Amino acid sequence: MARFIIKFDKEKCIGCGTCAAVCPENWEIGDDNKAKPKKIELEKLGCNKTAEESCPVQAIRVEPATENSTE
Ligand code: SF4
Repeated sequence: MARFIIKFDKEKCIGCGTCAAVCPENWEIGDDNKAKPKKIELEKLGCNKTAEESCPVQAIRVEPATENSTE
């Protein structure tokens, strides 16, 4: 029942760590020194919007999930 989906472009990520700094709830830096979302299907946006807006290379996009139209 995800309401938002994270689209993360790992190729773009430069591993700056900003997303993990502003949104440690869902972002961490992996062993490859690139960001890693803990979850890609979200019920709440939370700080992921801030992570999206803070990424210097626009590697993070948060989009509404479309398959769930019960409301
Ligand atoms: S803010 Fe963007 S470039 Fe920086 S680590 Fe996160 S996804 Fe990668």
